[in-house]
Amino acid sequence: LIIAKDLCKTFSNDSVQQHVLKNLNLEIHKGEFLVIMGNSGSGKSTLLYSLSGMDRPTLGKIIYEGEEIQNYSDEKLCVFRGKNTGFVFQQNFLNDTLTAIDNVMVCGLLTHKNRKKLAEKCKELLLKVGITEEDFNKFPSQLSGGQKQRVAVVRGIINNPPVLFADEPTGALNSDNTEKLLDILTKMNENGQTIVMVTHSIEAARRGDRVMYLEDGVIRDSISLGKFTSRDSSSNQKLNHFLEEMG
Ligand code: ATP
Ligand code: MG
Repeated sequence: LIIAKDLCKTFSNDSVQQHVLKNLNLEIHKGEFLVIMGNSGSGKSTLLYSLSGMDRPTLGKIIYEGEEIQNYSDEKLCVFRGKNTGFVFQQNFLNDTLTAIDNVMVCGLLTHKNRKKLAEKCKELLLKVGITEEDFNKFPSQLSGGQKQRVAVVRGIINNPPVLFADEPTGALNSDNTEKLLDILTKMNENGQTIVMVTHSIEAARRGDRVMYLEDGVIRDSISLGKFTSRDSSSNQKLNHFLEEMG
């Protein structure tokens, strides 16, 4: 579905160049649940931005269903993102001037003509991630970190994107809400949606079909865990062992 070819991302600050992604090659299959792990600063968020068309790589190609998207005009890239991707930011990036539900609504209007139906869907999803009705009309500043994160996830999935990019979507959640959210992502994946998730959590990583470990801008190693729910104890052991090796 998505092929990254010789991906490089370099940031320049005060004439100092920092090479964050270094000739990275990666193929993401349709319907895959890919988990990306790695130390802080290894380039995980930068990689998600490049893969999703949120930002352009310095060098290299992003090929989505056979089409190179890295040279698209800003406008075309924007349309591409709206049609094909959902994104959950590490820092939420909710609109502070909109209520929780309106943050989701404005995004959902992209694919929903009927406002009433959209509002129902928003409410249903918010309840599903454990946001109660009394919080629907609160502004982000009135919500906890975990609540904001869950609103941001709902915003990311409201349009049923073929590919969801989620950057540490459970980072601020307790284990109960983490499970709820991971169940939703797993279900989306079972329905055929491709998921690319960055996480530090082994609980979250267990949901992946493949876990990839990023180190200093390159893929150090990766491991396959098998498709969907058939995660027996051996795949858990496999993952534990893999992460031990990655240190
Ligand atoms: P974390 O687990 O802490 O979220 P990460 O793996 O997501 O880390 P990135 O956010 O991708 O790491 O950042 C990788 C490196 O690139 C860091 O050293 C960071 O300072 C640098 N970097 C990221 N974005 C920019 C930017 N816009 N301008 C300059 N440097 C940047
Ligand atoms: Mg990050």
